Amino acid sequence: MVSQEQILQWLQLFAREIEQNKAYLTELDAAIGDADHGINMDRGFKKAIAQLPTVADKDIGSIFKAVSMTLISTIGGASGPLYGTWFLRASTEVAGKQELNEQDLLQLLQSGLNGVLSRGKAQLGDKTMIDVLSPAVVAFAQVVNAGGDTVTALQQAVTAAEQGMKNTTPMLAKKGRASYLGERSIGHQDPGATSAYLLLKCLLVVVN
Ligand code: ADP
Ligand code: MG
Ligand code: MG
Repeated sequence: MVSQEQILQWLQLFAREIEQNKAYLTELDAAIGDADHGINMDRGFKKAIAQLPTVADKDIGSIFKAVSMTLISTIGGASGPLYGTWFLRASTEVAGKQELNEQDLLQLLQSGLNGVLSRGKAQLGDKTMIDVLSPAVVAFAQVVNAGGDTVTALQQAVTAAEQGMKNTTPMLAKKGRASYLGERSIGHQDPGATSAYLLLKCLLVVVN
């Protein structure tokens, strides 16, 4: 089970993790984008965290919705609408809930992924955050469908996410700014895939 309090802790931990990795994420984006991913994410999640007190006594769906609105309105660039969509679509699966079992989490992760897929139109292998979010959902589902618990499922999801992140390095970017570079996008890890890995890693840290 994941409690509403753990969800709040997760968001706070992720905001700190982003702050600590701000320069790194921006450096990754400098190689194949416009050197702002760390700055974008830091600005967006700082603002989201600042607004958490207004929803601290609400259900998990309401918390996600508030985060989503803040991200969409605060982050310019691709990652704002995409992360905003992830939280918005995830929120519909957990509306009214104060705690989440492994099925709720699976639905949440699946819906968040579906949202980013339909919004960004990227496919697996396009060198984006999808290359982390998608294998993470598959790994999570495998454990849950075999009767495994949340922590085990999240451990597998984070392992798959990390591998997915690393897999973006040799990929040719087909979506987003990195795609403008064509062949020159090869050999660099995708910044959005990296922040997506950190998002899942922080959830595991809080739940474990
Ligand atoms: P921008 O590219 O507008 O400056 P960011 O630098 O904040 O925005 O985010 C870039 C990241 O967004 C990329 O590394 C990639 O993972 C992700 N991204 C870009 N376009 C898409 C898309 N169409 N679908 C999924 N993710 C995408
Ligand atoms: Mg950028
Ligand atoms: Mg930008």
